[in-house]
Amino acid sequence: MDWIAVVPALAGLVIGSFLNVCIHRIPRGLSVIRPRSHCPGCSKPIPAVDNIPILSFLLLKGRCRACHAPISLRYPLVEAAAAALFLGAWIRFEWSSAFVICCLFLALVLTLTVIDLYHRILPDVLTLGGLAAGVLLSPLQDPGFFHWKMGPASLPAWDHLGFSLLGAGLGGGFLWLVAALYRRFSGVDGMGFGDVKMTAMLGAFLGWRCALLSVFVGSVIGAVAGSIYMRARSKGRSYPLPFGTFLGVASAAAAFWGPGILRWYFSD
Ligand SMILES: [Zn+2]
Repeated sequence: MDWIAVVPALAGLVIGSFLNVCIHRIPRGLSVIRPRSHCPGCSKPIPAVDNIPILSFLLLKGRCRACHAPISLRYPLVEAAAAALFLGAWIRFEWSSAFVICCLFLALVLTLTVIDLYHRILPDVLTLGGLAAGVLLSPLQDPGFFHWKMGPASLPAWDHLGFSLLGAGLGGGFLWLVAALYRRFSGVDGMGFGDVKMTAMLGAFLGWRCALLSVFVGSVIGAVAGSIYMRARSKGRSYPLPFGTFLGVASAAAAFWGPGILRWYFSD
């Protein structure tokens, strides 16, 4: 691999550090810009030297310099995940508009995945904001997501916009239908409207095929992980599972391998 690969990886670390701020603040209704990062234990502002992704966590041995309160392992893990995802996007798309769009998509999905895991919510600013970004940026998106049988750059930009809107409509519509049927027959809310909006966002970025593939794979991951967790912790069936988390993991995988899997499965 080229040495230049450190650039997307470092960008991932820096963006991952910002995503940690988003993950902490968005569910609490706080601004992600102001004030500066501070320790949740002692409220002291964190100096820049203690805010270096991963490195500061290791040097401080996972504790605040001022009050020695433990820092969540989530911080370095999110930074490392963002670095790995951005590197993966660069390997797949190199320097292109599709690379930038893929990084934006993966950053949104990583943030939603962690927020849903901790809070069981999928904030509109990420799902609906992401949906708008996915549609608006679709003319610059990799055509492979929208039409897996075609080679790269074989679709006009206006077709991308159509496929993106179709992906959002079919992806969100499908999940809305599943949620409505589930509520009709079981009498309980199995899925929130946040999952519907998130799937619409996935469709806007990935097209309807990869969005539905993400729903299918996410459901399988959720069923397996959910039953293992509930058995281990002896939770009841009413325990709310973070479907957005499973959907997030599946859709990040779909961003890398989705079109390839579809080509393989449907090849004649
Ligand atoms: Zn502190």
